[in-house]
Amino acid sequence: MSKYDVVVIGSGPGGYVAAIRCAQLGMKTAIIEKYDTLGGTCLNVGCIPSKAMLDSSHHYHEATHNFTKHGIDIKGTVNPNLEQMIARKAEVVSQTCSGIDFLMDKNKIDVHHGMGSFVDKNTIKNPRTEKKPLSKRTKLSLQLEVNRITFQEWNQTKRELLPPPRRWN
Ligand SMILES: Cc1cc2nc3c(=O)[nH]c(=O)nc-3n(C[C@H](O)[C@H](O)[C@H](O)COP(=O)(O)OP(=O)(O)OC[C@H]3O[C@@H](n4cnc5c(N)ncnc54)[C@H](O)[C@@H]3O)c2cc1C
Repeated sequence: MSKYDVVVIGSGPGGYVAAIRCAQLGMKTAIIEKYDTLGGTCLNVGCIPSKAMLDSSHHYHEATHNFTKHGIDIKGTVNPNLEQMIARKAEVVSQTCSGIDFLMDKNKIDVHHGMGSFVDKNTIKNPRTEKKPLSKRTKLSLQLEVNRITFQEWNQTKRELLPPPRRWN
Protein backbone atom coordinates (compact mmCIF):
# COMPACT_ATOMS: atom_id res chain seq x y z
CA MET A 1 0.00 0.00 0.00
CA SER A 2 1.33 3.44 -0.93
CA LYS A 3 1.10 6.16 1.69
CA TYR A 4 0.50 9.81 0.96
CA ASP A 5 -0.16 13.01 2.84
CA VAL A 6 -2.77 13.98 0.25
CA VAL A 7 -4.61 12.07 -2.45
CA VAL A 8 -6.61 14.12 -4.94
CA ILE A 9 -9.45 12.35 -6.75
CA GLY A 10 -9.96 13.76 -10.25
CA SER A 11 -7.41 15.48 -12.48
CA GLY A 12 -9.51 18.34 -13.86
CA PRO A 13 -8.45 21.96 -13.37
CA GLY A 14 -9.66 21.75 -9.77
CA GLY A 15 -7.76 18.54 -9.01
CA TYR A 16 -4.45 19.03 -10.77
CA VAL A 17 -3.99 22.55 -9.43
CA ALA A 18 -4.77 21.34 -5.88
CA ALA A 19 -2.28 18.47 -6.29
CA ILE A 20 0.47 20.79 -7.54
CA ARG A 21 -0.07 23.21 -4.66
CA CYS A 22 0.02 20.40 -2.09
CA ALA A 23 3.25 19.08 -3.60
CA GLN A 24 4.75 22.57 -3.61
CA LEU A 25 3.91 22.83 0.09
CA GLY A 26 5.99 19.70 0.70
CA MET A 27 3.26 17.08 0.98
CA LYS A 28 3.64 13.64 -0.58
CA THR A 29 0.85 13.80 -3.11
CA ALA A 30 -0.97 11.46 -5.47
CA ILE A 31 -3.76 12.05 -7.95
CA ILE A 32 -6.30 9.47 -9.18
CA GLU A 33 -8.00 9.80 -12.56
CA LYS A 34 -10.54 7.35 -13.95
CA TYR A 35 -9.77 8.22 -17.58
CA ASP A 36 -6.56 7.49 -19.47
CA THR A 37 -5.57 11.12 -19.82
CA LEU A 38 -5.27 13.87 -17.24
CA GLY A 39 -6.98 17.25 -17.43
CA GLY A 40 -10.63 16.40 -16.80
CA THR A 41 -13.58 17.80 -18.72
CA CYS A 42 -11.80 21.03 -19.58
CA LEU A 43 -8.80 19.59 -21.38
CA ASN A 44 -10.34 16.43 -22.85
CA VAL A 45 -13.87 17.29 -23.93
CA GLY A 46 -14.69 20.86 -22.83
CA CYS A 47 -12.80 24.14 -23.02
CA ILE A 48 -9.75 23.08 -25.02
CA PRO A 49 -11.37 20.98 -27.80
CA SER A 50 -14.27 23.40 -28.20
CA LYS A 51 -11.87 26.36 -28.54
CA ALA A 52 -9.70 24.42 -30.99
CA MET A 53 -12.77 23.81 -33.19
CA LEU A 54 -13.87 27.44 -32.78
CA ASP A 55 -10.41 28.56 -33.89
CA SER A 56 -10.68 26.47 -37.06
CA SER A 57 -14.21 27.65 -37.83
CA HIS A 58 -13.10 31.24 -37.24
CA HIS A 59 -10.35 30.84 -39.88
CA TYR A 60 -12.94 29.43 -42.27
CA HIS A 61 -15.26 32.38 -41.60
CA GLU A 62 -12.43 34.84 -42.17
CA ALA A 63 -11.47 33.17 -45.44
CA THR A 64 -15.05 33.17 -46.77
CA HIS A 65 -16.18 36.57 -45.45
CA ASN A 66 -13.30 38.91 -44.73
CA PHE A 67 -10.22 38.02 -46.81
CA THR A 68 -11.43 39.97 -49.88
CA LYS A 69 -11.77 43.16 -47.79
CA HIS A 70 -8.12 42.78 -46.88
CA GLY A 71 -7.09 42.36 -50.50
CA ILE A 72 -6.63 38.61 -50.29
CA ASP A 73 -8.32 36.87 -53.19
CA ILE A 74 -8.78 33.12 -53.14
CA LYS A 75 -9.08 31.44 -56.50
CA GLY A 76 -11.71 28.68 -56.42
CA THR A 77 -13.88 27.72 -53.46
CA VAL A 78 -12.89 27.43 -49.82
CA ASN A 79 -14.05 24.13 -48.37
CA PRO A 80 -13.97 23.11 -44.72
CA ASN A 81 -12.22 19.77 -44.17
CA LEU A 82 -13.90 18.44 -41.03
CA GLU A 83 -11.62 15.42 -40.79
CA GLN A 84 -8.54 17.65 -40.69
CA MET A 85 -10.20 20.03 -38.20
CA ILE A 86 -10.91 17.13 -35.88
CA ALA A 87 -7.38 15.74 -36.30
CA ARG A 88 -5.94 19.15 -35.39
CA LYS A 89 -8.28 19.39 -32.39
CA ALA A 90 -7.09 15.94 -31.23
CA GLU A 91 -3.47 17.07 -31.53
CA VAL A 92 -4.15 20.22 -29.46
CA VAL A 93 -5.89 18.13 -26.78
CA SER A 94 -3.06 15.61 -26.73
CA GLN A 95 -0.40 18.32 -26.35
CA THR A 96 -2.32 20.04 -23.58
CA CYS A 97 -2.87 16.78 -21.67
CA SER A 98 0.85 15.99 -22.01
CA GLY A 99 1.49 19.34 -20.37
CA ILE A 100 -0.35 18.09 -17.28
CA ASP A 101 1.72 14.86 -17.33
CA PHE A 102 4.81 17.06 -17.35
CA LEU A 103 3.54 19.12 -14.41
CA MET A 104 2.82 15.96 -12.41
CA ASP A 105 6.34 14.67 -13.09
CA LYS A 106 7.92 18.02 -12.33
CA ASN A 107 6.15 18.26 -8.99
CA LYS A 108 6.78 14.57 -8.17
CA ILE A 109 3.07 13.76 -7.94
CA ASP A 110 2.22 10.07 -8.35
CA VAL A 111 -0.47 9.49 -10.98
CA HIS A 112 -2.86 6.55 -10.55
CA HIS A 113 -5.42 5.73 -13.22
CA GLY A 114 -8.70 4.19 -12.05
CA MET A 115 -11.90 5.00 -10.19
CA GLY A 116 -10.91 6.14 -6.70
CA SER A 117 -13.28 5.42 -3.84
CA PHE A 118 -13.06 5.68 -0.08
CA VAL A 119 -12.60 2.53 2.01
CA ASP A 120 -12.50 4.64 5.16
CA LYS A 121 -11.53 8.21 5.95
CA ASN A 122 -7.84 7.50 5.45
CA THR A 123 -7.88 4.85 2.76
CA ILE A 124 -8.70 5.15 -0.93
CA LYS A 125 -9.22 2.17 -3.18
CA ASN A 126 -8.27 2.13 -6.85
CA PRO A 127 -9.73 -1.05 -8.41
CA ARG A 128 -8.37 -0.30 -11.89
CA THR A 129 -5.07 -1.83 -10.95
CA GLU A 130 -6.74 -5.24 -10.81
CA LYS A 131 -8.67 -5.09 -14.06
CA LYS A 132 -6.93 -3.18 -16.82
CA PRO A 133 -3.38 -3.13 -18.06
CA LEU A 134 -1.46 -0.33 -16.47
CA SER A 135 0.10 2.46 -18.41
CA LYS A 136 3.78 2.87 -17.68
CA ARG A 137 3.01 5.96 -15.63
CA THR A 138 0.67 4.14 -13.26
CA LYS A 139 2.12 3.06 -9.97
CA LEU A 140 1.22 -0.44 -8.82
CA SER A 141 -0.88 -0.21 -5.74
CA LEU A 142 -4.29 -1.52 -4.87
CA GLN A 143 -4.90 0.90 -2.07
CA LEU A 144 -3.55 4.29 -1.23
CA GLU A 145 -3.39 5.31 2.35
CA VAL A 146 -3.77 8.96 3.07
CA ASN A 147 -1.53 8.92 6.03
CA ARG A 148 -2.01 12.08 8.01
CA ILE A 149 -4.33 14.48 6.35
CA THR A 150 -8.04 14.41 6.90
CA PHE A 151 -9.94 17.45 5.72
CA GLN A 152 -9.81 19.08 9.17
CA GLU A 153 -6.15 18.27 9.62
CA TRP A 154 -5.41 19.65 6.17
CA ASN A 155 -6.86 22.99 7.25
CA GLN A 156 -4.59 22.90 10.28
CA THR A 157 -1.54 21.92 8.20
CA LYS A 158 -2.32 24.62 5.70
CA ARG A 159 -2.36 27.20 8.48
CA GLU A 160 1.05 26.01 9.64
CA LEU A 161 2.62 25.99 6.17
CA LEU A 162 1.17 29.12 4.67
CA PRO A 163 2.07 32.65 5.67
CA PRO A 164 -0.51 34.24 7.99
CA PRO A 165 -3.46 35.79 6.18
CA ARG A 166 -3.00 39.40 5.22
CA ARG A 167 -4.97 41.83 7.38
CA TRP A 168 -6.87 44.58 5.62
CA ASN A 169 -7.46 47.67 7.71
C1 LIG B 1 -18.11 21.91 -23.90
C2 LIG B 1 -17.53 22.62 -22.70
C3 LIG B 1 -16.82 23.80 -22.89
C4 LIG B 1 -16.29 24.45 -21.79
N1 LIG B 1 -15.59 25.62 -21.98
C5 LIG B 1 -15.08 26.29 -20.94
C6 LIG B 1 -14.33 27.48 -21.11
O1 LIG B 1 -14.12 27.93 -22.25
N2 LIG B 1 -13.83 28.11 -20.04
C7 LIG B 1 -14.06 27.63 -18.77
O2 LIG B 1 -13.59 28.26 -17.81
N3 LIG B 1 -14.74 26.50 -18.56
C8 LIG B 1 -15.26 25.82 -19.60
N4 LIG B 1 -15.95 24.66 -19.38
C9 LIG B 1 -16.15 24.21 -18.01
C10 LIG B 1 -14.92 23.46 -17.50
O3 LIG B 1 -14.67 22.33 -18.32
C11 LIG B 1 -15.18 23.02 -16.06
O4 LIG B 1 -15.51 24.17 -15.30
C12 LIG B 1 -13.97 22.37 -15.45
O5 LIG B 1 -13.55 21.25 -16.22
C13 LIG B 1 -14.28 21.92 -14.02
O6 LIG B 1 -13.10 21.37 -13.49
P1 LIG B 1 -13.13 20.30 -12.32
O7 LIG B 1 -11.72 19.97 -11.99
O8 LIG B 1 -14.00 20.82 -11.23
O9 LIG B 1 -13.91 19.04 -12.92
P2 LIG B 1 -13.59 18.16 -14.21
O10 LIG B 1 -12.81 18.91 -15.23
O11 LIG B 1 -14.91 17.59 -14.62
O12 LIG B 1 -12.65 17.03 -13.66
C14 LIG B 1 -13.11 16.03 -12.82
C15 LIG B 1 -12.23 14.81 -13.08
O13 LIG B 1 -12.42 13.89 -12.03
C16 LIG B 1 -12.44 12.59 -12.56
N5 LIG B 1 -13.14 11.78 -11.58
C17 LIG B 1 -14.37 11.98 -11.06
N6 LIG B 1 -14.64 11.06 -10.12
C18 LIG B 1 -13.56 10.24 -10.06
C19 LIG B 1 -13.22 9.10 -9.26
N7 LIG B 1 -14.05 8.60 -8.33
N8 LIG B 1 -12.02 8.50 -9.46
C20 LIG B 1 -11.16 8.99 -10.39
N9 LIG B 1 -11.42 10.08 -11.16
C21 LIG B 1 -12.60 10.70 -11.00
C22 LIG B 1 -13.16 12.76 -13.90
O14 LIG B 1 -12.86 11.70 -14.78
C23 LIG B 1 -12.57 14.08 -14.37
O15 LIG B 1 -11.38 13.88 -15.12
C24 LIG B 1 -16.49 23.95 -20.46
C25 LIG B 1 -17.20 22.75 -20.28
C26 LIG B 1 -17.72 22.09 -21.39
C27 LIG B 1 -18.47 20.79 -21.17
